[in-house]
Amino acid sequence: MSTIYLDHAATTPLDARVLQAMMPFFGDDYGNASSPHHMGRKSAVATDQWRRVMADVIGCDASEIIFTGSGTESINAAFFGILQNRTQKRIITALTEHKAVLEPAERAAATGYEVVHVALDETGKIHPETLAPLLDEDTALVSLMHANNETGTMHPVGELAELCRKKDIPFHCDAVQTAGKVPLDVQELGVDLLSISAHKFNGPKGTGALYVRSGTPWSAWMLGGSQERGRRAGTLNVPGIAGMGRALQLAAEEMDDRRQRNRRLKKQMMDRLDDAFGRQVRFNGDTEGGLETILSVTFFDPEGMPLDGEMLLLNLDIEGICCSNGSACTSGTIKPSHVIMAMGNSPDTARSTLRFSFGKDNTTAQVDEAVDQLREIISRHTHPAK
Ligand code: PLP
Repeated sequence: MSTIYLDHAATTPLDARVLQAMMPFFGDDYGNASSPHHMGRKSAVATDQWRRVMADVIGCDASEIIFTGSGTESINAAFFGILQNRTQKRIITALTEHKAVLEPAERAAATGYEVVHVALDETGKIHPETLAPLLDEDTALVSLMHANNETGTMHPVGELAELCRKKDIPFHCDAVQTAGKVPLDVQELGVDLLSISAHKFNGPKGTGALYVRSGTPWSAWMLGGSQERGRRAGTLNVPGIAGMGRALQLAAEEMDDRRQRNRRLKKQMMDRLDDAFGRQVRFNGDTEGGLETILSVTFFDPEGMPLDGEMLLLNLDIEGICCSNGSACTSGTIKPSHVIMAMGNSPDTARSTLRFSFGKDNTTAQVDEAVDQLREIISRHTHPAK
């Protein structure tokens, strides 16, 4: 049985060209990038080179990029690095954010911050006119994602960040799902902080970056050695950084092709599901303007009752097809997706929702096979549609 991997929003395979860029640093070039000798310098030169490559891709100065150990770490550093420099006590975010944002916000709430969740439209999108009235002189930080990891819905981050800039409120953007997938220019977006993670764009796991605009009231959250000019302590993960830089470079070079292919795959899957199930499927989020890589589908039986998504997911897995029923972090605990519920759905409807997410190596034949298998599985478990 061959694997059909449709879970690229959870993680992506490492590109062979990325591994090639990493290999020297697993082997002979093992120097600590902070060491004063030639072995250390070799590693330091490599990390600087890849930092510049990444800075070019996202449109910032190399000095504004801080390497971290994950998207989650970048987000935590953004939150607590800002809060420790601001006297204001309100954090604005949204219920559809990843747990990597919601949990730091909750921790802040436990220490006296007020956390306000911006209202969403039916696709899970935030509009500038909804955010504007919430911004006041007591707002310490606004954190909103670029694209949602379960539905692909994209917020108009440029407009949202502009509102914050006019009031001198730092804006953090979780761009973990969009880095390498759509153009990401921090000047155009106008954000102050931005988090990315290499394993979502065919780079290595456990490697992330935080962009901090020069002049932002932010200071180090991870304390220890003076790596990253005192902004993130800890020995640099040189192979990881080389891999992340190369992966982002390749993603930028091949972006147009990859986007076109993913757009076609997403449309093909929607059309085939429509043909096969008609009103027994519903697509969630902004399917037109959202990210090409993510498709969220809720399945119903012929009587309109939500189907058991866990059953669908397990049966697909038996056939070698990988997808998700929420974010990877919640699927282990089989909780209904907080994102789908935040968009006004019941826990049962959330439980009947699957996420299919496409990557650069998926084919149209794989999408066809996934829909064929779904049809088999669902017809085994429900009465035939009238
Ligand atoms: N933010 C979003 C939107 C994500 O999808 C993820 C991972 O699923 C993260 C943050 C966390 O990133 P990492 O896995 O690098 O910690």
